[in-house]
Amino acid sequence: MSATLPLPPGSTIGILGAGQLGRMMATAASQLGYHSISFAPPGDNVAADTCAELFERNWTDTSALADFAQRCDIVTWEFENVPLNAVAAIPEALLAPQLRALKVAQDRLNEKRFVEDLGATCAPYVRVDSDEELTRALERVGTPGILKTARDGYDGKGQWRIASAHEATGVRFPGRPCIYEGMVDFETEFSVILVRSREGEVRFWDSTANRHQGGMLVSSTLPAGDLVEGQVEAARAISAKVAEALGYVGVLTLEFFATKQGPIFNEMAPRVHNSGHWTIEGAATSQFENHVRAICGLPLGETGTRFARIKMRNIVGESALSAHDMLSEPGEPHLHLYGKREAREGRKMGHVTRVSH
Ligand code: AMP
Repeated sequence: MSATLPLPPGSTIGILGAGQLGRMMATAASQLGYHSISFAPPGDNVAADTCAELFERNWTDTSALADFAQRCDIVTWEFENVPLNAVAAIPEALLAPQLRALKVAQDRLNEKRFVEDLGATCAPYVRVDSDEELTRALERVGTPGILKTARDGYDGKGQWRIASAHEATGVRFPGRPCIYEGMVDFETEFSVILVRSREGEVRFWDSTANRHQGGMLVSSTLPAGDLVEGQVEAARAISAKVAEALGYVGVLTLEFFATKQGPIFNEMAPRVHNSGHWTIEGAATSQFENHVRAICGLPLGETGTRFARIKMRNIVGESALSAHDMLSEPGEPHLHLYGKREAREGRKMGHVTRVSH
């Protein structure tokens, strides 16, 4: 089974995962005349609002996955922690990006080695599989540092910050493979978001300055400032090499720390990214639309920025309950709410983008 490209209008895109990224991806797909269906385990699957159908089944249900694949002309993902066994139930010829991108990105150690081999600089890091290895890692890398689970972490989950040697004495190996990495003394964080077509054409969006709190993105701002602007070219060169080495098709994100010594690679996401939500209103073509265009074999859209100043802020937890108040604020804020049922603390509920000339 393989897709005949470019996919004609009326074709069906399968999305693995059904969160806000899938929701926005399906909106972009419908604008281009495609149907989307999504697959995710039971939960607050907000992509169901914009997808024609939701297969709400567990990742272990390979027969449901096979039925899902039967219905699709192409299958992509919005969530990089889809278990590899689940993805293996989808014929590889239908997948875009390819499985390899997930294999590399699901394990922090793999990912760092892969990107380092292509010339990137990472913070010092050591693999940690036991209490003894944690002690040795702390000696080798020193403090401050961060212990991170190698797999399944997101938005700062599965991470423990270790500020001092004194604090390190109380830290135990969490029982899952980890890496311990040195804390980077950075000025700003930024991401390179690119799209790569099936023919290998690569386009980049402008890099925003990203502010995080507790490991979660708070805001993305353009212009990103001189330091980031001076480091974007080097970061783009690495990112393009990563995309090429993976034979990547679609939107790929690499996150960096801008330091006095140059860009330090942090992590990559083989998907559309929270720090690219501003592209919906702020760029000639959004990350969601270009992802759809790339995987469906359509020509890529221009990625240029349309405004002098742009700020995207996440709406987290209960603040979403009064988010409609923003609609009467001056400056026409662009509000996006994800339709999640429960406004739990620390949960991304929406975002707002403000633009000005
Ligand atoms: P991650 O999940 O690895 O992207 O980490 C989430 C956030 O934690 C990053 O965006 C940074 O704000 C912070 N962080 C992670 N690793 C480091 C590090 N080695 N040095 C400094 N800050 C870090």
